[in-house]
Amino acid sequence: DKPQHEKRLIESRLSQVGQILLVMANKGGVGKSTVSANVAAGLAARGYRVGVADADIHGPNQSRFFGFAGERIRLNKEGLSTQAFTAEGVEHPVRIGSLAFMMETDDTPIVWRDAYKHDFMHHLIGSFDWGPLDFLVIDMPPGTGNELITLADMLEGQDVAALLATTPQEVALMDSLKAVRFCQERSMPLLGAVENMSGVTCPHCSGHFHLFPRAHLAEALAEHDVESLAQIPLSPALASGSDSGRPIVIDAPQGPEAQAFAPVIDAC
Ligand code: ADP
Repeated sequence: DKPQHEKRLIESRLSQVGQILLVMANKGGVGKSTVSANVAAGLAARGYRVGVADADIHGPNQSRFFGFAGERIRLNKEGLSTQAFTAEGVEHPVRIGSLAFMMETDDTPIVWRDAYKHDFMHHLIGSFDWGPLDFLVIDMPPGTGNELITLADMLEGQDVAALLATTPQEVALMDSLKAVRFCQERSMPLLGAVENMSGVTCPHCSGHFHLFPRAHLAEALAEHDVESLAQIPLSPALASGSDSGRPIVIDAPQGPEAQAFAPVIDAC
């Protein structure tokens, strides 16, 4: 029957995956997808076999961040085709699986009840042809709702760890701490937090300043035993890297943004 078949499919895909990284933010717009893409690309640049599962149903941006905007789904004998991102010096292509490939147009809204979202999470892991991977990076939707619970249940018994993306803003921080609580309550290892949009470097005078005061964030993370892994600046190069479909860690590996991501990649 269908659930048994689905379960076996998911188990067989996951049996070929090493480490699963859930990139969580709880709040939207803090750069969770940007962090997911650059961590995935950074791992690939180090020679690992990496997949990116885009679980952000309402904002599936990974297709765009890796240059596959407008691509539509294809089937092969292994299932739904992932898109393969290749770059010079990257041994194994990064494999991208996203709902964006199944939409009629890029601006088609997703208006789904929970049952559909639940089904999609199973397809995301079970139906795409992930192949053997060292890392599967999952770009989570914001929030600690249905999708997160479905995935956490589905991945039970796997090697799963979480990364938290947050900005130093008080509201983002409050939301992030809910994701921390979720990990702690589910006994899911949390590798640490990536502080995104942490400071700006002036392109004219190279002076560095903070838009949001950092003090509260550092304090709150420490209080909750969450390591701060990196501070990623607010940077035009990062934004255009996403828009142009080439993650900055691949495009400018010696630049300050790629260097800022290095400790996160080390921690994985
Ligand atoms: P989320 O997944 O949390 O909703 P995204 O990663 O999609 O957030 O980021 C939201 C927008 O902000 C995107 O357009 C992205 O390119 C931009 N962005 C994210 N982080 C940075 C940064 N550090 N510097 C500049 N732009 C950024």
